[in-house]
Amino acid sequence: MAVVQLGDVTVQRIVEHEIPVYHPSEFFDEATAEAVEPYRASLTPHALCPQTGRMVMPVQSYLVRTRHHCILIDTCVGCRKNYAEPPEWHQRSNEVWLSNLQAAGVGTDDIDYVFCTHLHSDHCGWNTRLVDGRWVPTFPNAKYIFARDEYRAMEDEYHQIFIDNVEPIAEAKQAVLVELDYALDDDIWLEPTVGHSVGHVAIHVKSRRSRAAMCGDLIHSPLQLAEPDWTCNSDYDLAASAATRKRFLREHCDTDTLVLTAHFPSPSMGHVISRGDAYDFNYL
Ligand SMILES: [Zn+2]
Repeated sequence: MAVVQLGDVTVQRIVEHEIPVYHPSEFFDEATAEAVEPYRASLTPHALCPQTGRMVMPVQSYLVRTRHHCILIDTCVGCRKNYAEPPEWHQRSNEVWLSNLQAAGVGTDDIDYVFCTHLHSDHCGWNTRLVDGRWVPTFPNAKYIFARDEYRAMEDEYHQIFIDNVEPIAEAKQAVLVELDYALDDDIWLEPTVGHSVGHVAIHVKSRRSRAAMCGDLIHSPLQLAEPDWTCNSDYDLAASAATRKRFLREHCDTDTLVLTAHFPSPSMGHVISRGDAYDFNYL
């Protein structure tokens, strides 16, 4: 997979899978067939599957290598996890994500830091793996950086995702809880982008004059560039989600910030550009 150079930092996608998952109308209340129609031709086939009409959405991580650290941003769905939905994510046995990480020249021992934009099932699955019937950290030498608000909210709910993907990290004393604007160093820092979840963060990378931002699930689909008010039905706070997304798009539109999306179709990375009253994406 292509390695993107940002000053002294490299960024690389580690893809778990890229398949048609949801119909736009299952994801966004506003996305009726008529409302999607003006965008259908330009989004088919890369973002909308021509056979099923479902949105093509990868699940992926970003591997960031700085001069000092090997960093993983988001850890996909993982294997043998019990997830309520979608059914494709439940009890996966396919370890292709781990193979893809190894193909990038990185072993599980090599990761220094794991960041999660938020703690939903497709962003923290490979935090842990099953060994002799116990969930243990997949990356034994890593510090896992969790936004404190996100961690506490998940801890309060105490459902299976927290029990399997997060609690074992704390038990292994590898969890570090931080504020929403935490900076690891001059190259890597968090930005609060709440709305999709209680403590959602974007993760910024800067090196020399190059900048990138990993936006997690503050935006899910290129449909939301044309329609920034369309908000995922399952977002924690719909109004905050829309406000966060519009602020992010406004700030990075027509700039040199490389936006590294979680779920836009391959190559998933590009620049936000203005298009009339809304936005479009110049894929790398
Ligand atoms: Zn997601």
